[in-house]
Amino acid sequence: MAALANGSSSVRRGHALRAHNTLALQSRADAFVAVSSDAELLAALAWAKARRMPVIPLGEGSNVVFAGDVHALVLRQATQGITLLEVRPNAVLLRVAAGQNWHELVRWSLQQGYNGLENLALIPGTAGAAPIQNIGAYGVELQSLIACVHARRIDDGTAVTLDNQSCEFGYRDSIFKRELSGQLIITAIEITLSRQAVVNTDYPALASFFLQHPLLERTPQAVFEAVVSIRRSKLPDPADEPNAGSFFKNPVLDSSQARKLVANFPQLPAFPQADGRVKLSAAWMIEYCGWKGFERDRLGVHPQHALVLVNHGNDSGAQLLDLANEITRSVYEVFAVSLEIEPRVYGASV
Ligand code: FAD
Ligand code: NAP
Repeated sequence: MAALANGSSSVRRGHALRAHNTLALQSRADAFVAVSSDAELLAALAWAKARRMPVIPLGEGSNVVFAGDVHALVLRQATQGITLLEVRPNAVLLRVAAGQNWHELVRWSLQQGYNGLENLALIPGTAGAAPIQNIGAYGVELQSLIACVHARRIDDGTAVTLDNQSCEFGYRDSIFKRELSGQLIITAIEITLSRQAVVNTDYPALASFFLQHPLLERTPQAVFEAVVSIRRSKLPDPADEPNAGSFFKNPVLDSSQARKLVANFPQLPAFPQADGRVKLSAAWMIEYCGWKGFERDRLGVHPQHALVLVNHGNDSGAQLLDLANEITRSVYEVFAVSLEIEPRVYGASV
């Protein structure tokens, strides 16, 4: 263990990452540090630079696959804090530190009467990771709430700020996964929340929840509780069944390609997008190919949720990726659609 130049946090060599990923995969980082302040972050970046060691930012590890040992400094963002920056007649602007737990932020904001995050309840992970894939659920995406993202450049520690447009958000996508991949550590996000109680319950699972509970008033708090209840009933808890949520993204195809597929597979759920393209259900295709509930070598496809791969004690990220690739190949053979893996893979030998 080596103390950083500022003396307040320590770099651990050969650190086991199993407790730092929700798939509970076995892997070792050449070096690991958790930073709780900007000064610690800068000291950690300088430490890595002096050793020419790559830096990999990590939140709560709920969207990563460690496919082998990681030859880098894995830098856990652990900064905490929510600051009220501005109060407007109908809205507030909050600054949230990158290491803040996402679900706790959602819960806290509703307690203050700040609305807008309720559909995004119970998504694991940190606020700092949320813009990376523009987290989304139950009809809401983070991009509708983000004012800007603060970050530091990994190579020289320079502070940068990206406004909403510069983040180039897309479906489970942003500039942080593309052009800026591997270049920045997000230090904080700014979000605009509403002081009015306008709710969005159009998403089918939410709409049917409120139809089944006709006496429930559709308040932001009620939507929060509905989302928590639906998610708990459908999704495996990583603490009991290690997983990374949806392992595959829903493919978005141009409309003519999607039309042809739906003509051949009329049951395939298809959702037209604002840009004219069509989002197709990856879960349906995987289930059609017979993978739902599949088990091999203590790895499996969840029996209730075809997008979720579960580690039942195999612990090898490489074998998990082999299974994911087999699924992808079989879906391609039937539908000629290439499924994309959602979590970011580290430590794979290419
Ligand atoms: P990590 O897994 O630690 O990191 C993910 C990626 O972001 C990595 O590439 C990492 O390098 C990078 N990163 C992390 N922090 C930073 C930072 N500060 N600066 C720069 N890069 C950083 N996602 C959804 O969109 N919607 C859902 O409904 C949803 N449900 C889920 C349910 C379950 C049970 C699970 C396990 C996952 C789910 N996810 C969902 C995926 C995941 O929760 C989100 O992607 C979340 O934002 C990841 O946060 P994290 O802190 O765990 O990120
Ligand atoms: P679901 O409600 O059973 O729906 C299945 C799929 O159909 C989802 O992927 C969803 O796309 C899509 N869909 C359903 N109705 C739609 C509509 N009206 N318009 C557009 N798309 C529609 O899904 P679920 O698996 O239980 O998950 C519920 C929500 O939580 C979803 O939004 C899902 O994305 C999110 N979630 C994400 C993860 C993750 O790791 N990324 C894990 C668990 C849950 P979308 O995915 O685009 O919404």
